[in-house]
Amino acid sequence: MKRIDAHCHYNGINEHLLALLGRLNLLTVNISVAMPGELWLRQNAFYLRQLQERPDHFAWITSFPVPEGDTSGYVDQCIAGLELDFEAGAIGCKIWKNIGMDLVDGAGRLYKCDDEIFQPIYEYLTAKKKPLLMHIGEPLACWLPLEENKPHCGYYKSEPQWHMYNFPEKPHHQMHIDARDQVLERNPELVVVGAHWGSLEYDTDEIGKRLDRYPNFYVDSSARLWDIALQETTKVKEFFEEYQDRLLWGTDAVAMTPDFNDFSAIAISDIDYAAALYQVEFAYYEGDHVDIWGNHYKGLALPQSILNKFYVQNALGVYGDLHDVYTSTSS
Ligand SMILES: [Zn+2]
Repeated sequence: MKRIDAHCHYNGINEHLLALLGRLNLLTVNISVAMPGELWLRQNAFYLRQLQERPDHFAWITSFPVPEGDTSGYVDQCIAGLELDFEAGAIGCKIWKNIGMDLVDGAGRLYKCDDEIFQPIYEYLTAKKKPLLMHIGEPLACWLPLEENKPHCGYYKSEPQWHMYNFPEKPHHQMHIDARDQVLERNPELVVVGAHWGSLEYDTDEIGKRLDRYPNFYVDSSARLWDIALQETTKVKEFFEEYQDRLLWGTDAVAMTPDFNDFSAIAISDIDYAAALYQVEFAYYEGDHVDIWGNHYKGLALPQSILNKFYVQNALGVYGDLHDVYTSTSS
């Protein structure tokens, strides 16, 4: 079975990466991350080139520019860019956590994903039948003190600007979840994928509540395996059983390249890290135990029928444009 890693950031191609993806038989979905400035457009150009050169290993989810300065004409500019990217083969659109957590308008007010300014973009995506991947907010740990040997401690140590425990004046986790839920509520025909278990990684019951409430909502598993492995195995298995048609596998594997200048310069250490990450992922979902940073947890040992949906069929269902390329390049 050719698995689809529905959430990656492989910023370029070299022989080491191709060897890994070939060995593991993977189709990966590269996801653009829009930030102020022009750099992310270079990332977009890389992802497009990867799709063109090796569609057997790379698909692409684009994004739209963040609002900066004068926003007259903003929506038209976003839609024009998306139109070109979809024509070029992008299979969906991403909105990132900087909306809600970081970016402010001319009055100094934080943008939120449910602000009116974004609504015409969501309506455009609905009409185009393109899914919206939403990474909104952060794991709950972002608002809690650092805990050694727990998920996210390393990330917030190295990226303290994102650790909201240090910024109690900024919106809490719940505000981000509510804003995302508002988008789901207002756009029932828009297919939405909540990245990182929809930022509800701390409790599968919370994920399940949203999946029950919003039939247009799906979640990907990226970058939160440890959070899920910490929860009671029987409960997580029941969650997979109940929502087996709504869960997409993703890892958030990253391979960096300096400033998107050199297409083949992705770091070998990143590819080695990704290789190790895949082993942990497969061990947890398929096996009966997994080691995460020296901690031992039970694996889910999911049945093949659920693994097939999680690894392949749900991604093909949500990202319909993947279907033909997957069929023609899988073995
Ligand atoms: Zn990501």
